[in-house]
Amino acid sequence: MRQLRAQAWMHNRVRMVVASFLVKDLHIAWQRGAAHFMDRLVDGDVPQNQLNWQWVAGTGRDAAPYFRVFNPVTQGRTFDPDGMYVRRWVPELRDVPGGAVHEPWKLPDGVPAGYPERVVDHAREREVALADHARRPT
Ligand SMILES: Cc1cc2nc3c(=O)[nH]c(=O)nc-3n(C[C@H](O)[C@H](O)[C@H](O)COP(=O)(O)OP(=O)(O)OC[C@H]3O[C@@H](n4cnc5c(N)ncnc54)[C@H](O)[C@@H]3O)c2cc1C
Repeated sequence: MRQLRAQAWMHNRVRMVVASFLVKDLHIAWQRGAAHFMDRLVDGDVPQNQLNWQWVAGTGRDAAPYFRVFNPVTQGRTFDPDGMYVRRWVPELRDVPGGAVHEPWKLPDGVPAGYPERVVDHAREREVALADHARRPT
């Protein structure tokens, strides 16, 4: 989100992770995230943006399966294995070595000063999101 604010751009991978986190971990309507992206993105484009948000949320005509929930830690460890991207945008974690930046709550001394405790437990919120989808009328 800091990159979006600073550069008005984010790589597609990060857009997908952000969208999945908002919708499936925080359980916030995709339209709110889509509106924020439209306000900020230099390439903001209604069809691209709204349909990509719906793809992630699992609500579009050409959607990802609703049970696909991006795991932010796995995504980070796979696509930012040394944690360089995170350290660039989250200077509070600049002294955390390597891929450990992806799970700062597991550091032996706890999260570094100035960095918040995690706001959700991904494994738990994933289950909530899946149960929520299962209850929806088809
Ligand atoms: C939640 C979310 C919101 C998005 N909002 C927008 C938006 O407002 N405007 C926008 O142009 N793109 C949007 N995208 C698609 C994608 O992120 C951008 O097109 C991509 O980041 C462009 O980067 P690039 O120019 O380096 O292209 P590359 O990654 O090199 O890809 C080449 C071309 O393919 C197209 N492309 C790549 N990924 C996608 C994709 N997921 N969907 C459709 N076309 C794609 C683009 O036209 C791009 O120019 C969004 C994706 C997500 C997940």
